[in-house]
Amino acid sequence: MNISKLARSIAASPTLSLNEEARLLRQKGEPVINLGIGEPKNKAPIAAILSSAAKLNSGDVKYTPPDGTPSLKKAIINYTEDNYNRLPAPENVIVSAGAKQSLYNILFSILNPQDEVIVLAPYWVSYPEMIKMCYGIPVIVVPEDGGFYPRMADIEQATSSYTRAIIINSPNNPSGALYPASFIADIVEYCERRKIYLIMDDIYHKLVFDAKKWAPGYAYTDRDIDNSMLIVVNGVSKLYGMTGFRIGWVIASRQLVEVMTNVQSQTSSCTSMVLQSAAEGALTGMQSIVENLRLTMENNRNIIVQELKSFTGIRTNIPDGTFYILPDFRAYSNKSVELSQFLLRKALVVTVPGKEFGMEGHLRLSYAGSVKELMTAVERMKWALDPNTSNEIYIGDRKLIRDWL
Ligand code: PMP
Repeated sequence: MNISKLARSIAASPTLSLNEEARLLRQKGEPVINLGIGEPKNKAPIAAILSSAAKLNSGDVKYTPPDGTPSLKKAIINYTEDNYNRLPAPENVIVSAGAKQSLYNILFSILNPQDEVIVLAPYWVSYPEMIKMCYGIPVIVVPEDGGFYPRMADIEQATSSYTRAIIINSPNNPSGALYPASFIADIVEYCERRKIYLIMDDIYHKLVFDAKKWAPGYAYTDRDIDNSMLIVVNGVSKLYGMTGFRIGWVIASRQLVEVMTNVQSQTSSCTSMVLQSAAEGALTGMQSIVENLRLTMENNRNIIVQELKSFTGIRTNIPDGTFYILPDFRAYSNKSVELSQFLLRKALVVTVPGKEFGMEGHLRLSYAGSVKELMTAVERMKWALDPNTSNEIYIGDRKLIRDWL
């Protein structure tokens, strides 16, 4: 069969495939706990449901402009003004099917073959694959100290005449690290000066803990949006718990948005009018839902950090935000893919191997689920790995004896 070499070289999204494996096990009646997938458990905001239901009930569901409905774009403009202190024009905004499509459209629209894009480890799994899908080359910058905070000196060293863009994601999936404001200021200045696009994936920007402050990139540039190298990505998936609605957006120069709109008009045409209405409802409705989610995640973060403290040999950072933590499991194995499979088989807990994020020897755990699930999952992982724990456990109604340590 003739299949393109490039398409064949693209890896499946490991989080989505692990999710599927967990679903199949659950279908067989296995009490699997999924710490793999990154989605909050809350129901979509009522305002989102009502506005999309109204659109659906009207029966008048048609194409929208490729860059999004004017009313959703208005809501995004207001959101940007409130959260970024910048007022984009409608021509600076394009709506896509999730931030994932937004990112792909950006890369497709800015890269020539062999252009390089700097990606900071640990990074979200999809960045390198998407860059490759656009015939670009991902250049991974790993913090020298094995930590989660990038250094400007390393980024400067990785920059070449082929560097077209740098992607940053803060607070960060998978580490939960919030990059310091001084770093954001430096990288914005660097990209503006060197004419390198700075793609800021802000999808978790309000999920920040311990009264820390997230810093919007626009705070550190005087240039207007049309003359700036900043490309801002955001969406409703994480903050509003609306992953299935598939709405994300980009704020960028008119010139780039125009090209992205042409690209989108030739691929998906537009995102669904019903789902755009839902996003508009979420953005214009009660915002306390986001703060409630943030508080829940901060509490979950505290619980998982506490539980991991009594896990022999595990070293962990304390996430500043998101709903992920990336503990170091090298005390048990340097091979995170094998370790993750072992934990799924023995303890029925889904984790994501750190290798997928450029951090071998670590596992990413999502703490977006219930407190009970979190505590049970860590207890099972300890049982499977930590010889200092009892060798007996109940998983569902089965009593299991550990006989491999
Ligand atoms: N960026 C990051 C860092 C993410 O973690 C995710 C979702 N896992 C996305 C983008 C994509 O989000 P969406 O659901 O809006 O496509």
